[in-house]
Amino acid sequence: MYTPKFVKSKDSDDIVWLTKDLLDSLAERKKLESDIKHGLENGEFKPYYQPKVNTKTRKLCGMEALSRWSHDGKLMPPGSYIPIMEFNDTIRLLDLHILKCVCSDIAGWLKEGIEVPVTSVNFSRRNLADPDLPGKIDSVVRASGIPKDLIEIEVTETADEFSIGDLSAFVDELHKLGYKVSIDDFGSASSSLTLLREVSFDTLKIDKGFIDNSKMRDLAILTYIIRLAEEIDTDIVAEGVEQQKQVELLDKLGVDVIQGYYFDKPLPKADMSARLKSPVYALN
Ligand code: C2E
Ligand code: CA
Ligand code: CA
Repeated sequence: MYTPKFVKSKDSDDIVWLTKDLLDSLAERKKLESDIKHGLENGEFKPYYQPKVNTKTRKLCGMEALSRWSHDGKLMPPGSYIPIMEFNDTIRLLDLHILKCVCSDIAGWLKEGIEVPVTSVNFSRRNLADPDLPGKIDSVVRASGIPKDLIEIEVTETADEFSIGDLSAFVDELHKLGYKVSIDDFGSASSSLTLLREVSFDTLKIDKGFIDNSKMRDLAILTYIIRLAEEIDTDIVAEGVEQQKQVELLDKLGVDVIQGYYFDKPLPKADMSARLKSPVYALN
């Protein structure tokens, strides 16, 4: 039979009971952290690629790299490891590793004579704690020999402990080095407008929530975001697009670039190679 354990703090009389469930979940968490560390060392993390498509011509016009982890014979989605890596600050290792893989994949495609569109790579805002990050990104891209303008950096809007000033400095530094930067999930945090005033992003990715929802209120905000982006000369991408009627609506509203299951799910490298060789989607 299991007897609950307790630990007593040295500085106070507080007693924390460690139940079996809590001990099990702490052990599971430790095991996962150690598996992630080994996974990074053994190259178990790889990019998948999700196409971005021009709304009018239906031609592939970009792609986003999304990481996947091959672990114990299963393909693990980012939700199972990114929060842990953000918490224990190993996310920068993953983001730079994925960037390295993307650059190497692009170099291979270019060598084969395949045309490659701009590819965005996600960088967690937790990375902003490292002031040398733009320099590290640049070193990885330069070492691969691919043109810099094929790489775009995507950062999420989610509010956290890093100030808008830190984000603005990060974006300015990347611009100086010759990279474009997009803001992910735009409209999902309460600080969206302040962010637009302070940081000069090249592209806004509209949060999937606005596209999923057919409420009049969301449609009004979506229309306003699109107009606003035009006014401040910022490109726009609609993501999470799944249905024909959403494509038609976005086309009417003037959104030129769409990403979503309607066209393709994130694809492994071999399938993306085939898509790059056949970059026009059929009109339905
Ligand atoms: P995200 O950057 O907003 O990426 C879009 C997510 O939506 C992806 O989930 C994608 O597979 C999914 N998605 C795309 N189109 C559709 C659609 O039409 N319908 C639906 N329901 N979903 C769609 P995924 O791959 O699970 O990634 C989740 C999040 O994890 C990403 O959200 C991104 O924030 C993060 N992430 C993924 N890879 C990396 C990475 O290498 N580094 C960092 N820092 N974050 C990453
Ligand atoms: Ca993204
Ligand atoms: Ca997003």
